[in-house]
Formats: sequence, C-alpha cells, structure tokens
Amino acid sequence: MSISSDPHPLDHRDINRDMAIFATDPLVGSGLPMWSPAGAVIRRELELLASEIARADGCMAVYSPVLAKRALFEMSGHWAKFSDDMFPPMQVGGEELVLRHASCPHHALIYAAQQRSYRELPVRLNELAPMFRAERSGVLSGLNRVRQINLDDTHVFCRPDQIAGEVELALRSALGAQRVLGLSVDYVRLSRRDAGPGYLGSPEQWRQAEHALRVAGLAVLEAGELPLVEAEGEAAFYGPKLDLQVRDGRGHEDSIATVQLDFSQPDSFDLAYTAQDGSRQRAVMIHRGTVGSMERVVAALLERYQGRLPLWLAPVQLCVLPVTSAQDDAARALVEDALRADLRAVIDYGGSLGARVSASRRRRDCVIAVIGEAEVASGAAQVIDVAADFRGAIPRDVMLVLLSRSYAERARTTAWAAARVTRDGGDRRR
Ligand SMILES: [Zn+2]
Repeated sequence: MSISSDPHPLDHRDINRDMAIFATDPLVGSGLPMWSPAGAVIRRELELLASEIARADGCMAVYSPVLAKRALFEMSGHWAKFSDDMFPPMQVGGEELVLRHASCPHHALIYAAQQRSYRELPVRLNELAPMFRAERSGVLSGLNRVRQINLDDTHVFCRPDQIAGEVELALRSALGAQRVLGLSVDYVRLSRRDAGPGYLGSPEQWRQAEHALRVAGLAVLEAGELPLVEAEGEAAFYGPKLDLQVRDGRGHEDSIATVQLDFSQPDSFDLAYTAQDGSRQRAVMIHRGTVGSMERVVAALLERYQGRLPLWLAPVQLCVLPVTSAQDDAARALVEDALRADLRAVIDYGGSLGARVSASRRRRDCVIAVIGEAEVASGAAQVIDVAADFRGAIPRDVMLVLLSRSYAERARTTAWAAARVTRDGGDRRR
C-alpha cells in the first residue's frame, strides 16, 4: 500500500489516537512525548535494527552523558552557532552545565582519551544518543518537532585516505536501512556550503570534502536508480554532507539520514593519530546516521503505512479472537504457542466478535486470527491481514511458521501465498 494512493492520508498524530504510540501531558511539557508500550515496541525494534547495522559496519557502542560543561560546546563551535536552540545553562556549584545539542563533542573526547595509531583507524563510535532543542512551544508538534531527539548517531575517526571507503560504507548502510524500513528515498543530496558566513574550516578543506563526498556518493549511487543532487547552502556549519531526502504524503521534504564530513571538530579537539613514520597527524571525523532519529522515523513510518506497520514493527503482531467462550482454551493455546515463538500476541475475549475485530483493526494489529467451532476441529484459524489484503483459513501451526519467518526477515508483508499451497495440500489429504 502506498500513502500517495490515499487522497486523505492521516497525520501520525491522528494515527496515534488509535494506536497509543506516545502520550503527552502539560505537566511534562510540550515537545516531550512519552513512549507508551506500543511505541516502545516499535522504538526497540528500530534500535535493534540500528545497532545490528552499526555492529555489521564495525562500529563500537558507547554511552555518554546528555550534559556537559558549556565550555565543551564552545570548543566544538555548537555554542556559537546553536546557543539560541539550546536550553540555558544550569549552575551547579561553580560549574555551568548545558544539555547537549549533539553528541559529537562527547564522542570526539572518547576518541581523544586514548593514543591512536594509524593501524587502529578507523574508529567508529555508535550511540542511540539523546540530544536537546529548546524549541518554542508554538512550533512543537507530535513526534516531528520535539525538545528531546533520540538519534542513531555514529562518529567515525579515520585517516584522510580512508574517507572514500567510510563515506561509501555509511551511505550504503543508510540506504539499506531505509530499504528495510520501506521508506523510499527520493534522492541523495550533496549539501554544500554557500558564500555566507558561519562555516568553520578553510575553503580548501571544503573543496576537498565536497569532492570526496561527490566521488563516494556517485560510486554508491551509480549502481542504483537514485540521483545525486547538489544543493548550495544546505551544508552543516562544520562540513558538507550527503542527505537522504524523502517526501511525505503531502509533498513535504525531509532529510532522514546523513553522512557528514567534518574537518573542523578534529582541529577544535586536537584529534590525532600516530602515522607510520611516527609523526602526529590530524584525524578526519565523519558523522553518520542510518535509521535516523527515533521520533522522526516513527512519525514517517506511521504516515507511510498509515499505522499498518510491517509485522516486525507492529506492536501487536497477532490478535487472537475466540468466537465464543467454547473456543477460549484453543485461543489461549494459540497465544501461548505464539509467545513461545517470540511473537507479540494478545487475546481479546470481551464483547461481540464484530466489535473485537473492529477494535483490533483500529489498533492496527498486524494479523487477526479468529477461532470458531470449525477452526477448533480443523486446527486452523480464520486469518485477516489487512495490509496484505488477505483473508482465509490457515492451519494454526503453518500460520505461526509464516509469521515467525516474516518477523525474522523483517518482511514488508507476510507470504500467505505459501500457506495456500500447504493448506491445499492439507485439504487433499482429508
Ligand atoms: Zn555528530
């Protein structure tokens, strides 16, 4: 299903009313959504995907505090550029602490905490990093504009000769993550600086960095369908970047993941390594994201699928409905089998079958399994999978195998066609 085929796609805040993904409260404050159980399930699956990709790319997990002295962000350049977007400093003892705007300075200092040899580079540090924006209440909305962002964030520290390989690896992984999520990237943008002020680093560094990104971007995109579009004035203040651009149902454009080159913070933090000849050399820093921020990606997924998420992301993967209390035992046994197979399954007993089916559909449960008298006798379930446009009787054990496979493969839809073959086979035996 495609959101663009729906003339009235729902906003993620409307979908949230049916699915209870996040809650807000004036006592907590605007722009500070709390993740409800259903939202936490989705977020945990996304965090798992992000950490799998990071591990496969040779990243090492780190944790760092969300606070630091104001002096850290003065050194990194964030304070000069973003102090208006940062929460005001907190006085603690004689110290001035601020909530971080980005995790790069912390990661730079983790790198700098050890002597580094050319042989151990690249060092890639990954964190699901909370960061903060002092947005005005008026502009805050749902999950898209928030005051705490939880970003799948990686910083790579490498030698200049490793830039091309690292940018290619990062871009491939970011595109791969978006493919798994089913969020179609429209194009990749090479975001360059313009003639304006406020950019750190020399023009020569910028020229080299933009060239490196262009070459690596073209190398990755050559094989695929996506264009590389250059845009002046879209760069970060510390360097140019490749942005994966997506458009939502209303045509609004957004960057969902980025690969950014940074020749500035290595200077600010004196990030170095010992070269083969024993000399001390400046390291290059690359900021990269794959899944993106949890808030933004969940908003995008909810709108893209209109809440009908692929099974691996669905808060409820299987909702079992006994037709009458006579089928309660069979329904309970099915839920137990599903839980044993690591599936997220629930049972709903209360009210008429029609009302329970409606409630489950409104909640966007991935698969509904109705068990009546005939199904108890045959060992089947009446399966309803709205996203896959499938309704039919499937043997319960076959259903669980198919759901487990769909989950393990992070499949877009469950392959019910495979079950029809099995079921037909079963019918013939009877
Ligand atoms: Zn960064």
